[in-house]
Amino acid sequence: MKILVVGAGYVGLVTGACLSDVGMQVLVVDNNQQKIKDLQAGIMPIYEPGLEELVKRNVQQGRLSFSHSLHNQLSKVSVVFIAVGTPQDADGSADLKYVLQVADEIGQNLEDYLVVVTKSTVPVGAAQKVKAGISRQLQNRGLNIPFDVASNPEFLKEGDAIADFMSPDRIVIGTETEKAKNILEELYKPFLLNGFRIISMDIPSAELTKYAANAMLATRISFMNDMANLCELIGADIHQVRRGIGADPRIGNKFLYAGIGYGGACFPKDVQALMKTGLDNGHPLRILNAVEQINADQKMRLYHKLEEALEGMIAGKTIAVWGLSFKPQTDDMREAPSVVLIKALIAAGARVQAYDPVAMPVAAQVLPEAVVFSTDEYQALQEADALLLLTEWRMFRSPDWDRLKSLMRQPIVLDGRNIYNAEQLADKGIRYWGIGTTKQLTTTI
Ligand code: NAD
Repeated sequence: MKILVVGAGYVGLVTGACLSDVGMQVLVVDNNQQKIKDLQAGIMPIYEPGLEELVKRNVQQGRLSFSHSLHNQLSKVSVVFIAVGTPQDADGSADLKYVLQVADEIGQNLEDYLVVVTKSTVPVGAAQKVKAGISRQLQNRGLNIPFDVASNPEFLKEGDAIADFMSPDRIVIGTETEKAKNILEELYKPFLLNGFRIISMDIPSAELTKYAANAMLATRISFMNDMANLCELIGADIHQVRRGIGADPRIGNKFLYAGIGYGGACFPKDVQALMKTGLDNGHPLRILNAVEQINADQKMRLYHKLEEALEGMIAGKTIAVWGLSFKPQTDDMREAPSVVLIKALIAAGARVQAYDPVAMPVAAQVLPEAVVFSTDEYQALQEADALLLLTEWRMFRSPDWDRLKSLMRQPIVLDGRNIYNAEQLADKGIRYWGIGTTKQLTTTI
C-alpha cells in the first residue's frame, strides 16, 4: 500500500514511521521546509523515544521518504492521512485552517480514487468540510474523481507514541462507505495481530470520541486535584484515597494522580474545543467548565505552597526546578504547567535555576530569559532556597538526599508530582510539601 501523511509532527511522523516499518510505502509531507530538510538529513524535529532509529531504518530501506509538497504525489496512493495541527482559535474552537488547506491541495492534485483520513483532532463536521473543499477543487478542474473521507482519531501518548501506535488499545475508524472501511481495516491489519481492536462507527461519532476521551481523562485529573486540595484541609491523604478508590474496577487505578495540573498539546485545547461545541449547540458542558477552572488554579498550587514554605518571601530567593516538559519522556513544552509557575516566580523576583534532561532547548524558547539552565540536576541546587519537582522524569525518583542537602541553602522540597516519601525526607531533615497530604504539610526539621 502506498500512503501519504501530511504533517510531520508528533502524530504525522510517528504514523509515517510506523506504517513504513510494517512494509508500506510512505511519503510524509510537511510545508515547513526546514523540518523536511532536517528529516532528509536524519535530524528529528522532536524528541520521542525510539523515533530516530525507526525513521532512519525505514528511510535506509527505501520505504519512508519526505517532501515539502504533495504536488504530483498522489498517483497510486491509497490513503492520505491529514495530521496537521488544529490549534485553539481565539473563541476556544479548533482552528481548521491547516486541515482545510490540505483538503484544497488534495483536490488540486487528486488523480484517482483514494481515502482522505483526518487523523488530526477535529470537531464534528470537519470531515464534511474536508470533503466539500476537495470537491470544490475538483469542480474547478472540471473533474469528477471519486474519493472517500474518513475519521481516524489518534490516541497515541507522547513519550510512548511508538508503542501506542504499534500496539494500540483500539483503533477508531469513522467511515461512510464500505469501501473506505475495508481499505482502512486492511491498512491496520498488521497492528492487530494480537486481537481485533478496530471500532468502526459513523464519522461524527468517531470525531466526538477523541474529544470525549481527552475530556474524560482531563476530568479524572481535575477531580483528583480537587480531592487532593480537600485532603489537605481535612487531614486525609490523597495517596491512600487513590489506592482505595482505584481498587474498584469500575473506577480503575490509572490516571488518578494529583499534581500540578494537566498541560500538553492536547488536553487544554481539546477541552476548550469541546466546550465550544457544547455552547454552539445550546448545550454548555458544565462539568468541563469546572475541570478547566480547577486545572488553571492547580498550576499555581505549588507557588502558594512555596510562599508558605518561604514565609511569603519569594523575591531574592533562588529556586531550583527539576523538570520542565509537560510530562516525562518528551520535550513538548506546549501548555506545560512549568511555564506558568516559572513566569510567576520570575515576576515575583526569584532567581530560577532549572534542569530538564531533554526539554531545555525547547524550554529556552518559551521561558523568560532570566531562567538559568543547569548542566545537571545537582548544579540546579547550588545555593537554592527550595526545590520544585515539576516533571517526574525517572532520573529524579531517587536523588542523593545528602548531596542535595549539602548543596542547598535551605533543604526545602516541593513535590509537584507526589513522587517522594514524606517520612524519608523528614528523617533526612528535609522539609517537604506534596500535593494532597496534610502529613507532609506539618513535617518540619
Ligand atoms: P505538530 O504541531 O507537532 O505537527 C503539525 C505539523 O503539521 C507541523 O510540522 C506543521 O508544519 C505541519 N503543517 C501545518 N500545515 C500544513 C500544511 N498545510 N501542509 C503540510 N504540513 C502542514 O502537531 P501534533 O502534535 O502532531 O498534532 C497534530 C494533530 O494531532 C492535532 O490535531 C493534535 O490535536 C492531534 N493529536 C496530537 C497528539 C499528540 O500527542 N501530540 C495525540 C493525538 C492527536
